Amino acid sequence: MAEKLSAVKGMNDIFAPESAHWEWLEGKIRDLMARYAYRNVRTPIVEPTGLFVRGLGEVTDIVEKEMYSFEDRLNGEQLTLRPEATAGVVRAVIEHNQLYDGPKRLYYMGPMFRHERPQRGRYRQFHQVGAEALGFTGPDVDAELIVMAADLWAELGLTDITLEINSLGQPAERQAHRQALIAYLEQHADQLDEDARRRLHSNPLRILDTKNPAMQALVEAAPKLMDHLGAESLVHFNALRGLLDAQGIAYRINPRLVRGMDYYNLSVFEFVTTSLGAQGTVCAGGRYDGLIAQIGGKPAPAVGWALGVERILELLKAQNRLPASPAPDCYAIVPQAEGQATVMQALRVLRQAGVSVLMHAGGPDGQGSMKSQFKKADASGARYALIFGESELAAGQVAVKPLRADAPGAITEQTLLPLTDASVWATRLR
Ligand code: ATP
Ligand code: MG
Repeated sequence: MAEKLSAVKGMNDIFAPESAHWEWLEGKIRDLMARYAYRNVRTPIVEPTGLFVRGLGEVTDIVEKEMYSFEDRLNGEQLTLRPEATAGVVRAVIEHNQLYDGPKRLYYMGPMFRHERPQRGRYRQFHQVGAEALGFTGPDVDAELIVMAADLWAELGLTDITLEINSLGQPAERQAHRQALIAYLEQHADQLDEDARRRLHSNPLRILDTKNPAMQALVEAAPKLMDHLGAESLVHFNALRGLLDAQGIAYRINPRLVRGMDYYNLSVFEFVTTSLGAQGTVCAGGRYDGLIAQIGGKPAPAVGWALGVERILELLKAQNRLPASPAPDCYAIVPQAEGQATVMQALRVLRQAGVSVLMHAGGPDGQGSMKSQFKKADASGARYALIFGESELAAGQVAVKPLRADAPGAITEQTLLPLTDASVWATRLR
């Protein structure tokens, strides 16, 4: 036998019943996006490497060590599997001049790739849903995005998700804070870990985001960006707070919330849970007014978030909020191969009328015994067996037999029904 092949480490195959949970969640999200009038956008999974270097910032975890980058063997182009989708969406919006007739509300869902250490809630191929509002200065749209996410948690029945918000101000304010921060960290250089020392002059703000417990006290007491914000930034932040308060959305101001990408300004936020262990951030985002210009577009403001699908699914599981596995309405029992064409035609009519039917299919030894077919019908979870026996078919009929006492339907005892008007009685099987 040939050598076995397995999936790339940190990348998952998803079968039923989990795949049904994915589809269910995706459906819930599509429905929510439609009600908020966000429109779907689909961009390539592979982008030029330069897009992320320029878009996310050179001294970020993602660009420094997490990207799957490679050279196209055929033409030498430097390419990267997208580690996130905002940069690609912005590129596409610029390339297709999508803001020419006004701002846009967009959403996407799909796989992202980051070369991280695989663990619970952290994979190398993972999935995000993201919402982006481009061309709006806010803070109303910032609030809309946050409220939309909060509505999603509520509609999914999720609890234990708290919102943290912060303002990163504008570049000049960050610059002033940066100077104060560097001075403070230099004073305490002996307490910095290697990562922090390396970042001290390149990206000191990211030091505040450290996960090193030994540095928590140090970053706790560091100069706060909030104290360097100018009047306009404070107005924006306070207006956002007012809108959230008015919608009854609770939040905690976390002055150390900085986010992993360089492109953020003003509002940043994260939804976090304590129910998932270390990987507790389920959704994160913020305003990125500088990114469109940075990627070569005409300057325009923007704000968005991305949620981690695997983490939301794990939370749904932990909180017992996943739907039951779908079962077909009917299992078609086909004792003999003769008349299969008639059977398939009848099943097709039922399916066109919205009934889900699992058809028994034969094997090398024929159709199998009635007993084994009934066993399979039971195992399928179907509510009814449709029995296409020789005598039923000869009479132009099918016998409908209820299989489950725990899920009683419209037909409560074995009933013969005419094949010719299956579309008429189909609704009784759903
Ligand atoms: P973290 O601090 O957990 O690494 P991040 O700041 O890198 O998160 P973002 O880039 O903001 O994450 O991505 C948004 C969301 O996508 C995260 O809040 C998380 O739910 C999810 N996510 C990010 N990286 C991964 C991953 N490797 N595996 C699974 N989900 C992820
Ligand atoms: Mg990360």
